[in-house]
Amino acid sequence: MPLYFSLVLQNALVKNFDFVSVEVVDSPNLTEGPFYLASAGIGGDPLIIEYGNDDYLIPLVDRSKVYDLIPTIRQIPSYKDKDFFACGAGAGPFDWIQQCCEGIYNIKVNQNGSVDNENHVVRTTSNGIQVLKVPNNETRAALLGNIFLTEGNAGKVLKVVSRNRTGDENFISSMRKGLTEYYSEDQIVGLGGVFVMKSGSAFVHVMDDFSETPINTDEDLNNWLTFHQVQAPLIALGDFVSQETDFKLRLQHFHSYSRHNQGGHYHHDTTPSIVEYEGYFNIVNRIIIVDKNSAIASTFSIATIILSTSIAMFLELVRK
Ligand code: ZN
Repeated sequence: MPLYFSLVLQNALVKNFDFVSVEVVDSPNLTEGPFYLASAGIGGDPLIIEYGNDDYLIPLVDRSKVYDLIPTIRQIPSYKDKDFFACGAGAGPFDWIQQCCEGIYNIKVNQNGSVDNENHVVRTTSNGIQVLKVPNNETRAALLGNIFLTEGNAGKVLKVVSRNRTGDENFISSMRKGLTEYYSEDQIVGLGGVFVMKSGSAFVHVMDDFSETPINTDEDLNNWLTFHQVQAPLIALGDFVSQETDFKLRLQHFHSYSRHNQGGHYHHDTTPSIVEYEGYFNIVNRIIIVDKNSAIASTFSIATIILSTSIAMFLELVRK
């Protein structure tokens, strides 16, 4: 007897959090605080775009690897000319600030070409980190990243609340590992969306400016990355998948920012006893791989993994 999808997440989260609630709700207006998305909803033709690859960044950067989100997304046949909302995590548009940075993508593009761009970057400074909102016409991403793409419609979403962490897994890895355990290797499941860490603090990294010497080892990488404790409320955007697949997908990738000049690539919270998360997610129907030009994907620039189970899962969700 299969479990309801939301129960799979619930069972996974209770292993790591004292209080857990997973329910299917009509999406609140996510343009409002504390979420501040560029789109009210995260529904309609949901998919993940995984673009670029680690080897465009290390051992040394390949500065040609820049992906303007608008023409990239317009190459997807079902997104040729409709409204879209794209959010997620990746390297930021380094050409804009002439510095390597973390990108936090949060952008609505309408059929008529108008853009509501809430993209941000986080970069290192001489005395810490800085969050910058990018200009409305700066729509580039770079090097590698993960975008959760939808039509931005209102509708049913998964609302996930977790408080008081009691286990070792973070908010996202709890859910991800639960999916990996429950679903088979052929039943790849992917989710994307937004969560807010409402209280406590989190451990994040922010890439320093590009290294001039090759990053060859994990030690080199950890010496180059900068690590920070950042305070709630933090807005985090990204996606996670249940299987790496032959495409060596990134299993989870969320970038965070805030209105108090803090943010970065989310690792985990550092205040388990007081942490509180509230997230809204949707299940994707496919994963589109763009220019992941290494390993098995070397012979083409765009590939698609169709997730045949996602529609059935979504129906199961809304019937509940
Ligand atoms: Zn990242």
